[in-house]
Amino acid sequence: MGGHYDVPMKTTAKYLVVATVGAILSSIILHTHSEGATKTRNQPSKTIEIDEELKLPLEGKTIVLDPGHGGKDVGSTGSQGTYEKDVTLLTALNISSKLVEQGANVVMTRADDTFISLEDRTELAQIEDADLFLSIHFDAFECSDVHGMTTYYNKSQDQDLAQSIHDELFKLDTEIKDRGVMFGDYHVIRENTQPAILLELGYISNANEEKRMQSESFQEQISTNIVNGVINGLG
Ligand SMILES: [Zn+2]
Repeated sequence: MGGHYDVPMKTTAKYLVVATVGAILSSIILHTHSEGATKTRNQPSKTIEIDEELKLPLEGKTIVLDPGHGGKDVGSTGSQGTYEKDVTLLTALNISSKLVEQGANVVMTRADDTFISLEDRTELAQIEDADLFLSIHFDAFECSDVHGMTTYYNKSQDQDLAQSIHDELFKLDTEIKDRGVMFGDYHVIRENTQPAILLELGYISNANEEKRMQSESFQEQISTNIVNGVINGLG
């Protein structure tokens, strides 16, 4: 093969590519224009329509996440030595990253092992004008047989939101006992000016649940389910 054949062949190929891309582009432009003529006649511009389509479900929502206890307040202690304050933080951090993925503005009452007063926690929700204050806890009871998850609200207007989140909690493979949506007289939901829910995501005093709450699979599932519940409840 002679070298002088290569040059025109390559050039032809390049022209073909350019021509093809050009044809595709003009067909896209034509398509967009014809759609615009029929579908978006009453809308101010095409850009706004695209922005709405790309909007994430929790965009514009502020959620204050409250990992229970912290610092000198360890919360409950499991028989295997687990501190509630550590599991609440782990869980809240997992929920936080999933909420951010869905477009939420997340503010944590604590993001490390620090003591924060109950007053400061509720005040943060007010300062941030939160759409939701979500407190994460794990239960304990003197009888180690007791197990399951409970969702608490304090004000009647928060009951539907509590139910939306609670309904998603049990979309798990595991057989976790459903202890229901209950009225709770806890400071962080009682003294809150914002919609406020408190989750008790299992009993640290039950050996099975103490082990499970720290497992990667439970953490992944529960944080996904809670975020789905928040989307349903705030949507
Ligand atoms: Zn607690």
